[in-house]
Amino acid sequence: MNKKFDLIVIGAGSGGLAAAKRAAKYGAKVCIIEGDKIGGTCVIRGCVPKKLMVYAANSRKNILNSNGYGLTHEQLSFNSKYLLKSIRNEVDRLSELHLNALEKLNISIFKGWGRFKNKNELDVITSDKKNILKTISGEKFLISVGGKPIKLNIPGSEFSWSSNDIFELEKLPKSILIIGGGYIACEFACIFNNLGIHVTQLLRSNNLLNGFDLDLSSSLKETMKSSGVRLIFNDELIKIQKKEEFFDFILNSGQKLNAESFLYAIGREPNLDSLNIQELKLKMNGKFIEVNEFNQTNQSNIFAIGDVVDRPNLTPVAIEQGRVFADNFYGNLKRSINFEYIPKAVFSNPEIATVGLTEKEANNLYGSENIKIFKCKFKPMSDTFKNINSKCLLKLVVNKSNDKVIGCHMFGDSSAEIIQMASIALSMGVTKKQFDSTMALHPTISEEYVTMY
Ligand code: NDP
Repeated sequence: MNKKFDLIVIGAGSGGLAAAKRAAKYGAKVCIIEGDKIGGTCVIRGCVPKKLMVYAANSRKNILNSNGYGLTHEQLSFNSKYLLKSIRNEVDRLSELHLNALEKLNISIFKGWGRFKNKNELDVITSDKKNILKTISGEKFLISVGGKPIKLNIPGSEFSWSSNDIFELEKLPKSILIIGGGYIACEFACIFNNLGIHVTQLLRSNNLLNGFDLDLSSSLKETMKSSGVRLIFNDELIKIQKKEEFFDFILNSGQKLNAESFLYAIGREPNLDSLNIQELKLKMNGKFIEVNEFNQTNQSNIFAIGDVVDRPNLTPVAIEQGRVFADNFYGNLKRSINFEYIPKAVFSNPEIATVGLTEKEANNLYGSENIKIFKCKFKPMSDTFKNINSKCLLKLVVNKSNDKVIGCHMFGDSSAEIIQMASIALSMGVTKKQFDSTMALHPTISEEYVTMY
């Protein structure tokens, strides 16, 4: 055994990197263990490559819809091989930047997977789990290993893709079945559809994006349908048959589908299998590691952040948990995390973005008689000359008793950018009166937020 570290971070994703860097800046002797590229889900196979694909898909859609501006295109071709390669190059560049930043801060990097020996020692093992590369000891440990996609437990699932696999493909398929109705399913359904791929999306419930404000998810449903995504609700995949060039799918209702490929987007779970946390007797909360407000587990020197704890599984939340952990335990600051107004976006086309309470949540919390709803739905000017059948939607949820805006929701282009700014106002306790007395910026979509009476 060698070296004793102040902090051993397991997993170099957004949260782990943020914690390691901040702790090292305070002077802690830090190491980070990662078996994959540095960057984690967000950088390597999530938010970043996905958003690059969104730009590509939206560009194609805009070009195809530009005749109304007098712009014609003889023939538009799409080389998915080129796009995927460009995305991988960009991901490698970003991963390299993170690596350089770690090296500059003298953070030791161990390539391999972490497996606890006991609460003070950890083996760094090879991915086949057969060999121990080294054993390290530390004063504190931070578990930031993230999540992994869930697959249905039915024969044939081994041929499925998860969102992880998409960015490793050589080229994109001509048709795809997407199972699920959450973030990943809706985002990829829109991306693939706008790249000219035939998309069928299969949902077990009667709505997509459960948990989001119903007006937003209904608006997206209408738009996706009219833009060519085939949506099948209230049904489930029960059988997969592999044919030479495509798959046959049999649904619970008896309906048969086929596509060249299929993608599971039915949620993710903590990636804890190889950590040997049983040895630590960590208290669990279902599949998640239980932590207190300081992200501390029941073993006082072991902490957990990000997708392994039962908090919104979003990159900025993991980063904030990592930074607050380092500030508290190495910077001696007394910081806590404000989970109240977390803005969220689904990068569908158009985007959905939201902060605060949905109408349903506000009704449950305060009673519908104590809530005021303001909303407007209209065709945005940017679509005037386009053959697009989609209306944007803006919605405010207001608490009647104090006039505070407690929910701000949007479906439309750039809604993620707009809601990020609105979240500042909501977290400061903005009132509807203050929205109304704000000068509009014309002509924009979001000016409607300050003119809704
Ligand atoms: P989500 O939790 O968003 O959605 C899961 C979907 O799968 C739901 O529609 C759910 O249906 C459905 N589902 C669950 N189990 C089954 C099953 N057994 N059979 C059929 N359908 C099923 O998960 P995702 O995988 O889309 O995303 C994982 C997480 O990644 C998100 O929760 C989010 O935290 C993060 N993420 C964030 C993004 C962003 O910020 N833009 C983008 C992508 C991911 P039902 O509604 O009926 O339960």
